Amino acid sequence: MDLQLSGTTALVTGAGSGIGRAVALALAAEGVRVVLLDRDGAALARTASGCPGALLLVADVTDEAQVASALARVDRLDAVVCCAGISGPVGAGIEDVSLAEWNAVLSVNVTGPFLVLRAALPLLRASATASVVLISSDSAFVASPGMAPYCASKAALVQFGRALSVDLADTGIRVNTVAPSVVDTPMSRGDLGDTALDEAAFPVQTADEVAAHVSYLLSPRSRAVNGTTLLSDFGYTARSGFPA
Ligand code: NAD
Repeated sequence: MDLQLSGTTALVTGAGSGIGRAVALALAAEGVRVVLLDRDGAALARTASGCPGALLLVADVTDEAQVASALARVDRLDAVVCCAGISGPVGAGIEDVSLAEWNAVLSVNVTGPFLVLRAALPLLRASATASVVLISSDSAFVASPGMAPYCASKAALVQFGRALSVDLADTGIRVNTVAPSVVDTPMSRGDLGDTALDEAAFPVQTADEVAAHVSYLLSPRSRAVNGTTLLSDFGYTARSGFPA
């Protein structure tokens, strides 16, 4: 299927690693001119080597001034993909979570997309086929013990996306969210350890698979899909606890 993305321009945050990197490479392969943003400039350069003509923006998504000056270097956008995120404390009850840790998770995972999208909206309004994808998580709907800040941030992101799709309904800008279960990336390997992923007793998806979801949601092929969350969790949350 031709996704009809060739010749469009897309901003990808968190493009230096994991899902953001896979999204950048997938979009570049579709002929998209990618604008890559990450706070890690070296990682960004590694991604850019697979994305001809990429514009690189080194910025922290939680810093209003950095986001504004980064976006000021962009003259056209048809899509924004917000991938930059952190997991924060893992395996910690909230009595062991500091306010700084809580604020850091909410700041990167929720305030970051707010700042990036607010700065990108004037450019998106000028596009005939604008589409935004926020990378949430299945942690918006189910919880692993000891990840309360992350779960709260990802649930907030889902509702931020829904609210934004309503606010922008008369602009033609679509806003959807992708909520994957465990994806094999440096983040999940850091949180769970290599052994847990290499010998996983649970289903693990690849960043390329998530990138395919994102590409479809950015494509005009999905023009009727708006304000939704694509929960890619191998069907786990569909299962009742009833033991029949
Ligand atoms: P990752 O750590 O591999 O990549 C995250 C990227 O975001 C890094 O390049 C990092 O430098 C960048 N980043 C972090 N904070 C930033 C900031 N303040 N400003 C700019 N850039 C920043 O992580 P990943 O696994 O690819 O995760 C990407 C997104 O997918 C995150 O939002 C994460 O919550 C979500 N997600 C991940 C999984 C998983 O299992 N890996 C599952 C569901 C959702």
